[in-house]
Amino acid sequence: MKKKPNYKLRRTVALIIIILIIVIPILIINRARISRIPVLHKYKEYKEIVKTLYTVDYSNDEVKSIMETLNKKKKMDEIRYDYISSLKEKGYSKDTIAYILINLSKTEMTKLLNKKYDKDLEEYIKIEDFDYDKYDRYIAYQKKYPKLKKEDIVLRIELKVDLDNYDDAEEEKNPDSLLAYVNKHRYINKDYEPDDLVEMDDKYSNNYYGVNRLRSEAYEHFKEMVDAANNEGIYFLADTTYRSFDTQETIYSNYAYEHTSEETSLYAARPGYSEHELGTAIDVSNVWYIEEGDEEYEWIKRNAWKYGYILRYKKGKEEITKYAAEDWHIRYVGVKTATLIHNKGITFDEYWYKYVRKDK
Ligand SMILES: [Zn+2]
Repeated sequence: MKKKPNYKLRRTVALIIIILIIVIPILIINRARISRIPVLHKYKEYKEIVKTLYTVDYSNDEVKSIMETLNKKKKMDEIRYDYISSLKEKGYSKDTIAYILINLSKTEMTKLLNKKYDKDLEEYIKIEDFDYDKYDRYIAYQKKYPKLKKEDIVLRIELKVDLDNYDDAEEEKNPDSLLAYVNKHRYINKDYEPDDLVEMDDKYSNNYYGVNRLRSEAYEHFKEMVDAANNEGIYFLADTTYRSFDTQETIYSNYAYEHTSEETSLYAARPGYSEHELGTAIDVSNVWYIEEGDEEYEWIKRNAWKYGYILRYKKGKEEITKYAAEDWHIRYVGVKTATLIHNKGITFDEYWYKYVRKDK
């Protein structure tokens, strides 16, 4: 019996032959181009970068880690080996070079390469919270306060002290926290009202214009503080405590109506931006608001921290708090925090930046 031809096999073989006839010439024609495909090109550049990094005295591990970081950040394309040698020639240290390669954009790097060695940059780069995007602001602030340490300059720029009041403002999303931070660049929602406000007794509060309210924990500690002061023959009361957004709005517009915009900016807070809206701040008085030199003030300065209260707007710190000194304005933050702030002699702004923001 005659064997039936295997058409299926023949068809497959024919197809393979046709494909080879078409593909082989294309491969031959494009051979030159194919040999220059970007992967190989990149690999050469990659090798050059590694080679140059070794000339900057990095150890094996350091080179490995730099290359890994550059890859991870997809920055390999932005770097050329001669950038590295040029930075080295200018006199930058190896830490600075690594920082520049890893963190600066190509434009920023090029700008830097066109400038002389920058000693300030070398020092700023070592500071933990250094942010190159804010570098021009550091330098401007440094010109204004040449004696300030660079760490302090970085911190102050983070606190936005160089910006106009209310610029680049952020919302404090956790106003219930006893460490909520409100200032000229941080506000709380207009509808916020603490749910543990308690009415204050006449013994502790001047309720002449209406009964003052305070958050319960702050109130308990205020009572203890006043009792302790009374035992030493010192008398003072809470004069202004919690204010709602609406009340603050009225106060602010009345103040603004009667004062210059400069005074308003320094003494009053826009609605949403006042610590009194947190329900933990108190303006303390003894007939008048207490002031430096008053025995009540001296007592509070010495003892308030033991009850969890801090003097919020101190003399000499106006540049950081952005408020004129208010000797009568105290704020409850809890005993632990108040103790630390008292011992270190820092502002709540600095405390918040160093200890609260970092935890997030
Ligand atoms: Zn106040």
